[in-house]
Amino acid sequence: MQLIELYTKKDFVFSIEIFPPKTDKGVEKLKSTLKGFKRIAPDYMSVTYGAGGTTRENTHEMAAHINHELGIPAMAHLTCVSHTGKEIDQVLTTLKQRKIENVMALRGDPTIGTESFVRPKGGYQYATELISTISRHSNFGIGAAGYPEGHVENPDKEDDRKHLHEKIASGAQFIISQFFLDNIHFLRWRDQLHEEGVSVPLIAGILPPSNWQSLNSMSEMCGVSIPEKLAESLIKHQDNPEVSREIGFDHVEHQLEELLSEGVEGVHLYALNRLETVERLGPILKEASGNSFSAVSE
Ligand code: FAD
Repeated sequence: MQLIELYTKKDFVFSIEIFPPKTDKGVEKLKSTLKGFKRIAPDYMSVTYGAGGTTRENTHEMAAHINHELGIPAMAHLTCVSHTGKEIDQVLTTLKQRKIENVMALRGDPTIGTESFVRPKGGYQYATELISTISRHSNFGIGAAGYPEGHVENPDKEDDRKHLHEKIASGAQFIISQFFLDNIHFLRWRDQLHEEGVSVPLIAGILPPSNWQSLNSMSEMCGVSIPEKLAESLIKHQDNPEVSREIGFDHVEHQLEELLSEGVEGVHLYALNRLETVERLGPILKEASGNSFSAVSE
């Protein structure tokens, strides 16, 4: 099933993002954790795509597992990093063979040690080109990324939104946002895009901060601002992991409450493979997705 059908049918869609482990042992451990995710019954799950090697195969392995073993619709992420156009075609064929019907199409970040993204030989420079290729490949549901505070490499927010319009024109059926910690960024961006004529679902990416250090480095890397009050609390309690996690959950619960009252079309939870995150926030999102929370047997 293409995920756009879910967004069309439901007022609110709850999705979870995970990343693929590097080792076989990690894959087995994550499969076991996902039994807990299944109990919360998200509408769909997505699996990120790494910089190379076995984690890329594990993206497909985990997406197939979610789709076929857990019975939850899955989306595999795919990036332009280190791929020729021909390899992208092969990956798409593999996804088709594995009956994975949805792809999150991304450019990917510059490889470690390099400052800017360099077009791979015979490959693509921008996500738009990848989206066009996937659209031509037959019948994949396609998601793409959007940046409420602008993409970190592009200081011109208007220009960044212009490129988002190009992604939609190339075939992106829904947009999942970068995480944000102050709803005003998402809500302004959403309203602006609506004014500019965008009608595809714009989904809020939500990441519960777990401690000051990781939040600070991730925010810097992704160009996401941290509200002063949140920064102060996390810095004050940086030596106490439990209190820090609680501050993060509390912050995100307030974010969700406001986003739901603002009628967002969906929330994509960056769960970072953590069951605690899904157990804590999942029921709120599940309730919003229109089905009362009910335990599903493993
Ligand atoms: P693009 O849309 O290509 O944009 C990249 C930059 O180029 C932007 O600054 C944009 O403004 C600019 N630009 C776009 N088109 C043009 C043009 N025609 N001319 C000039 N400039 C242009 N990374 C991974 O490696 N694996 C993942 O699985 C992954 N999943 C993600 C999921 C979500 C929901 C999000 C928000 C991000 C994810 N990322 C992932 C990170 C993503 O790869 C990076 O943010 C990356 O730097 C940009 O990817 P993009 O697809 O938005 O690129």
